Amino acid sequence: MSKIKRKEEKQNLKEEKHINKKEQNKSPKLKSLSISWQGIFIVCFFLLVLITIFIEWKYAPNIILKDKEKIILNYQENYQEPGYKLIIDGKNNPTKVKVKGKVNSKKIGKYEITYSYQKGFFKSERKRIIYVKDLTKPALILNGTKETYICPNQSYSEEGYKAVDNYDGDITSKVKVKKEKDKYIYIVSDRAKNKTRIERKIIKKDRVKPTITLKNGEQINIIAGTPYQEEGYKATDNCDQDLTSKVKIEGNIDTNTPGTYHLTYSVSDSANNKTKVIRTVNVVKKASNGTIYLTFDDGPQNETTNVILDILKEENVKATFFVTNNGPDELIKRAYDEGHSIGLHTATHNYSQVYQSVENYFNDLKQVQDRVYKITGEQSMIIRFPGGSSNTISRKYKQGIMTSLTEMVLKRGYKYYDWNLSSGDAGVTTDPNKVYDIVTNGLSHDKINVILMHDTKTHTRDSLKKIIQYAKANGYTFDVIDKDMEVISQRVNN
Ligand code: ZN
Repeated sequence: MSKIKRKEEKQNLKEEKHINKKEQNKSPKLKSLSISWQGIFIVCFFLLVLITIFIEWKYAPNIILKDKEKIILNYQENYQEPGYKLIIDGKNNPTKVKVKGKVNSKKIGKYEITYSYQKGFFKSERKRIIYVKDLTKPALILNGTKETYICPNQSYSEEGYKAVDNYDGDITSKVKVKKEKDKYIYIVSDRAKNKTRIERKIIKKDRVKPTITLKNGEQINIIAGTPYQEEGYKATDNCDQDLTSKVKIEGNIDTNTPGTYHLTYSVSDSANNKTKVIRTVNVVKKASNGTIYLTFDDGPQNETTNVILDILKEENVKATFFVTNNGPDELIKRAYDEGHSIGLHTATHNYSQVYQSVENYFNDLKQVQDRVYKITGEQSMIIRFPGGSSNTISRKYKQGIMTSLTEMVLKRGYKYYDWNLSSGDAGVTTDPNKVYDIVTNGLSHDKINVILMHDTKTHTRDSLKKIIQYAKANGYTFDVIDKDMEVISQRVNN
């Protein structure tokens, strides 16, 4: 038994040895196989990473913002989206971007706008911050001027100022005023610390001329043969005391000879600012009561003016014609040559045109004045306004035009003449007998009689001879209007 056991044990040992031997031969082969699997794994991993990077690089979406990611916007300035791109696979698809957020530029604050895109795993997001701030300086406005001249003997008294901010509103109370040598400095800041600074320079120098006021105006009419009496004047100055006593008057008036004379009033203040004012003194002929001035407007005109001239010639009466640009030159020439006075009534007689402006009036007047000068060789300086100086129709075209014109024509050396007896031939009647009645009933020995008539009317033409004969029979005399005659005017109503 034991022999067999031993044999078996020996056999087992042998087999064990053999197996060990076999394993010893087998193990190097297994080792090399496991190293190559690891290698493959690492390579695959890196490949995967590379592929991922490639796909990211090529296919992942990317939002790109145009302009800055932080924008500062002024209060109330409209926010304008600067724009953005969405790049997918090298192409721009901005319409696919979702934009969230709003900017209210009417409210100061911080605003955020989000731009995003997502598809599957792929996602891109950007943000933009917008700050709405008050960047505008307050406005600082000075009453008066930035360079203020004051009298040398005075000190400056503040004329006032106002500060307004676009966001804070009225901040006048926050203005700080500092006085330096010859200037004042005004500083104001709004709550956003925007600061405005301005200066007012104070210059001690009198640059203002004195003022001379003439009593009773710059135009004075006196009757020839009566002495001129100074109407009086006053001179004042912004810095000096009353200067009336220092006024010098220059100029001479021949009170016996009708004409236009000028007196010059001048004065200087202590800073040598000079003022000069001119008074025009018209020495005029006294028209004696009971005198008749026949005046004919709107002509000349064929068939009427020529007959009127015939009648005046037959009766040896002189009249005044206020002409327009109507009719033939010969009739004006004849009237002038036969001793009648030629006055100006405007070229067009068109109310809407001549009363539109002072400039229009004088342009029109010059046309008819030039016409008369060409025909007669004399500059006529006597005027009758269409509708008279008291007309109200001119209000329709320009308020106050008659007030301006009546002053300006005198300043320019013209004289204007209205009437105190209207024949009624332009509107009231077309009957020669009626014209005769109106005129003869209106005549008076207690005044001068300036009669308004129109040499364009046949009924006037046809009543004239009888009127003249009546006047002569009743002791009236006739005269013409010339520039030496006293102004006959009505009350200006516009
Ligand atoms: Zn007229």
